[in-house]
Amino acid sequence: MIIKNARTFPGNNIIDIRIDGGKVSKDASDSFTVDAGKNIVIPSFSELHIHLDSVFIMSPTLINRSGTLEEGIALWDEYKKHSLNADELNIRVRKALELLLSNGVTRVRTNVDVSDPDLTALKELIRIKKEFTDIDLQITAFPQHGMYTDKMNMELLERAIELGADNVGLAPHLEDTFEDGIKSVKSAYDLAEKYHKNIDGHIDETDDPESRFIEYLAKEKIRRNFTGSVAAGHLTAMHSYNNQYANKVIKLISRAKINVVSNPLINMHLQGRYDSYPRIRGITRIKEMLDYKVNVALGEDCIMDPWYPMGSGDPLDALFMALHAEPLMAPPYLENSMNMLTYNAASAFGVRNYGYSEGDEGDFIITDTQNPVEIVQYRHKRLVVRRGRLVNEVNK
Ligand SMILES: [Zn+2]
Repeated sequence: MIIKNARTFPGNNIIDIRIDGGKVSKDASDSFTVDAGKNIVIPSFSELHIHLDSVFIMSPTLINRSGTLEEGIALWDEYKKHSLNADELNIRVRKALELLLSNGVTRVRTNVDVSDPDLTALKELIRIKKEFTDIDLQITAFPQHGMYTDKMNMELLERAIELGADNVGLAPHLEDTFEDGIKSVKSAYDLAEKYHKNIDGHIDETDDPESRFIEYLAKEKIRRNFTGSVAAGHLTAMHSYNNQYANKVIKLISRAKINVVSNPLINMHLQGRYDSYPRIRGITRIKEMLDYKVNVALGEDCIMDPWYPMGSGDPLDALFMALHAEPLMAPPYLENSMNMLTYNAASAFGVRNYGYSEGDEGDFIITDTQNPVEIVQYRHKRLVVRRGRLVNEVNK
């Protein structure tokens, strides 16, 4: 396949992208050509934080009245007990993957709740990962109730990793005590080192300014000289930190090279629920972290589940929300914000060959604009290319 007249972003150069054998290649024949008309063609999106096991379960019996994270977890526990099985999960997950793919996502990192003694969702997702080849899927073993709130939790987490989960999850703010939270950070590194895995955590997803597990996560990576990748999802407590402490911890995150994944849609909805007015905005300090060269990516987190009654599968929605909530509406942040879905996200996912160069992955999104801001402003027609093959045409 050849994509002619493609405008690069960043770069703003007009090039022909030749794809052969699924990769960018000089040798591609011109049997199938798409003319991008000098519009921007970006390497595909990566979704770094989503919960595929709970997509599309929203129903009239699963309404989160308080809008809190905690009520969402209680409703999800009910669903797992009475309704979850491999067959219905398979249908929901495939629907979500198709939706994500149609919006230009060809890499997905999903959390899977591993507090279920049968690990039903995990086993089915491992099967889907092998079958659904249009998306590269990574699975994070997510201890929804922490590692130490029940004696079974650690055993299940380790079993999930042995069964084939890619990343070790953790949620220190959901442990019963501060000490258990710290212990869970250490245990995540112990497991990751033992099984040669990466770490992908829910960290400080609370409004509580005393929730400071991110500093332990960062310091422990440095202390151990941990060579895998570490992602910290949410970090919403940082919104409530005093400025001096936030500055200190952001520098530490930068030094430790922790990837940060903000989930603006969900946290604008879930945070501030214990406030009256004035009410906080619920997302982490994206702008300050970008200033300190932290690798920040964005996640969708939820699609129609007890935590979020919406969700479109379009990463541009998360970006649109981040631009407003932070806000990031002035240069250079606005123009460069797309990188949080492209280069930053691919880097956090662990992609080595990403971009327009020889040997890079042949996954692209053809837009119909020459202005990077308009991609998020209008979110309209895009052609999605997977390994040199047109997989979808959106809104055409
Ligand atoms: Zn999450």
